[in-house]
Amino acid sequence: MVTATNLGYPYVGAKRELKKLVESFWSAKISEDELRTGYSKIQESHWKLQQEKGIQHIPSGEYTLYDRVLDTAQQFGAIPQRYQHIKSPLEQFFAMGRGLQRAATATSEKVDVPAMEMKKWFDTNYHFIVPEFEADQKFTLQNPRAVEQFKAAKALGIHTRPVLVGPITFLHLGKAAKGTEDFETLSLLPKVLPLYIELIKQLEAAGADWVQIDEPVLILDLDANVKLALEKAYKTIKAQTNIKVLVAAYFGRIENNVYAIKDNVDAIHLDLVRAPEELDIVLPLLKENQVLSLGLVDGRNIWINNLSKSIELAEKAVKALGQDRVFIAPSCSLAHSPFSTTFEKKIQAKNPELFSWLSYAAEKCSEVSIIAKALNQGRESVKEALAANAAAIESRRTSPQTKNPIVRERVAKIPTEAWKRPSPFAVRREAQVKKLNLPLFPTTTIGSFPQTKDIRVARQKYAKGELSQADYDVFIKAEMKKVVEFQERVGLDVLVHGEPERNDMVEHFGHLLHGYDFTENGWVVSYGSRCVKPPVIFGDVSRRQPMTIDEIVYAQSLTKLPMKGMLTGPVTMMKWSFVRDDIPANELCAQIALALRDEVVDLETAGIPCIQVDEPAIREGLPIRRADWDSYLEWSVGSFRLSTAGVRDETQIHTHMCYSDFNDIFDAIAALDADVITIENSKSDEKLLKIFETKQYTNEIGPGLYDIHSPRVPSYEEMKTRFGDMLKYLPEHLLWVNPDCGLKSRGWPEVEAALVNMVAVAKYYRSLK
Ligand code: GLN
Ligand code: ZN
Repeated sequence: MVTATNLGYPYVGAKRELKKLVESFWSAKISEDELRTGYSKIQESHWKLQQEKGIQHIPSGEYTLYDRVLDTAQQFGAIPQRYQHIKSPLEQFFAMGRGLQRAATATSEKVDVPAMEMKKWFDTNYHFIVPEFEADQKFTLQNPRAVEQFKAAKALGIHTRPVLVGPITFLHLGKAAKGTEDFETLSLLPKVLPLYIELIKQLEAAGADWVQIDEPVLILDLDANVKLALEKAYKTIKAQTNIKVLVAAYFGRIENNVYAIKDNVDAIHLDLVRAPEELDIVLPLLKENQVLSLGLVDGRNIWINNLSKSIELAEKAVKALGQDRVFIAPSCSLAHSPFSTTFEKKIQAKNPELFSWLSYAAEKCSEVSIIAKALNQGRESVKEALAANAAAIESRRTSPQTKNPIVRERVAKIPTEAWKRPSPFAVRREAQVKKLNLPLFPTTTIGSFPQTKDIRVARQKYAKGELSQADYDVFIKAEMKKVVEFQERVGLDVLVHGEPERNDMVEHFGHLLHGYDFTENGWVVSYGSRCVKPPVIFGDVSRRQPMTIDEIVYAQSLTKLPMKGMLTGPVTMMKWSFVRDDIPANELCAQIALALRDEVVDLETAGIPCIQVDEPAIREGLPIRRADWDSYLEWSVGSFRLSTAGVRDETQIHTHMCYSDFNDIFDAIAALDADVITIENSKSDEKLLKIFETKQYTNEIGPGLYDIHSPRVPSYEEMKTRFGDMLKYLPEHLLWVNPDCGLKSRGWPEVEAALVNMVAVAKYYRSLK
């Protein structure tokens, strides 16, 4: 029989119940016991739901209260020294995840520890906690989650497939603890492997017959030593345990890394959404009895599966291997999808067609079991489901909602000259210097000013219809006036309107564009208890009407100083959304770029001399495999240029990026050809600036002078020193003075104090000339 399987479920819950539970615990509104009972209930309902949906291999052990890599670290006793004094395991766990500050009491000392480092989980928007190891790290096995959860499910009569973060992924993603000398974390394998074996034996003893070991490192470009470690680990596990082992690779192509594991596992899971071609490559490699788990249903997006296509692909596998050696699965853990479309009542009512194209985790489980059933009992047995699916796929393919002929034609006919500014930077600079007449070391900000409670309340009232359009406009104007006057008072040179009308830099524009929609409950975890609800791009994108002109023109009318218009770039608009998968990414990006291009030109026509197009997501969108970088950079950088190149020489195009390691993609950053680039910098070492020097970057640049993530006010002296350091690397005529990023999450008093100091620093350096 072909088996319907799942790799992981959105543990945060249907309505983010786990988030609420955990946060109530943090604020001491519920006890540890209540937390445990609460999450057990959520877990139980998820297992039952998957069972009802027909999943036969239901995952357990992947459920976490913060992050499962952190779970893994804690269960193996990889606890950095600074947390070791925290005795309660749960308190210690959260302290590592999010830091802990507690005043001294009669019985306990003061605690003040920051969180461990967080990093992006491969190319997802999920962030995991980076394990820290000492060179002489000792591991111990303590209350493994997988065993606890397997038993809990078993007690309910549900037989699950425990999931572990694999040893190589765990070590490879970890880092040497600060203060210890750098070493290869994989060298710890001989120490941690015996504990993995012990853990697997505990699972065996508890009655598990399969274990799923997640090794997403398998989709990276791996050095030989990592491959060797993989081989060694799975050879040892095979030799010393009796359980069946499924090793899961997902988020990309496994390529040659498959050879490192293929001889020593009972099953391999492949992400056939990302890499359908790998089915044919891996099939002939499998030995007698080895199972292939086919990741056919996209675990990273929200669209229905093309069931008929998936069945066809699966039939190929069944033909080669026989039914018993095929698992049907989502491409990766469904923790990266929202919970269920049952809660999308608004879209269902307003746009039933769009609703029929959506599939969240619960629906994806059904898709997996329909595919399995079709293979086991023939397509006839799921006739109705297939017919409904085919109709929805067809409606999506042909719907006028997804296709706008004018947009398509415009993208197909983009003239070559539209992809770059007509004149080189040197010529543009001359025109801009003349027009803007800015002092040396011009000062500016990145766009947003404090989003106060007043602003949030007004926005909510407006959304609910409690505040009329006219009253809301009056309110926003008053906010802009405050921001403009403030900037003049503080002495900034290039002003912004402050973004009071924007709740979020992507969502705000999504509302103003055709092709976007918004879900009620499409939450996915970003880190810890924090979830995001990305907009959905389902159709061709174009402007409904000019998007930012009224606000900026009003702001400009209040001042003689140059105003900087503010837009979110095409790549960021795309990367921070659920993106349609029915047209190529580069085409969609070009559509967004053209919509923005019109806005950029309108801004220029409205007399706005500087226009900033934020692209914080360009770096994070970089593909995992190096072989894919060039083509990605070509279209992403191209789209940025397309969006900005429609203006005259004298119009100054700015861009902004948050903290980014630019070293490996510097040429692409330069190829953006922005007149001014502002980058988050205050926490970076000199490496970031060094590369601009080494590569002899010619355009203007504003490396952030202070960190905006903390309420701390940077002193004049401190910024003076930092700016002095910048002058060592960058030619003075190209340097700007600005904070790291937008100020929306800060309070007014600290913003004022910080900017006053910052402007004073610019004035000091000018006075030396
Ligand atoms: N203009 C945006 C702001 O100031 C930029 C935010 C970002 O880079 N993430 O908020
Ligand atoms: Zn930023």
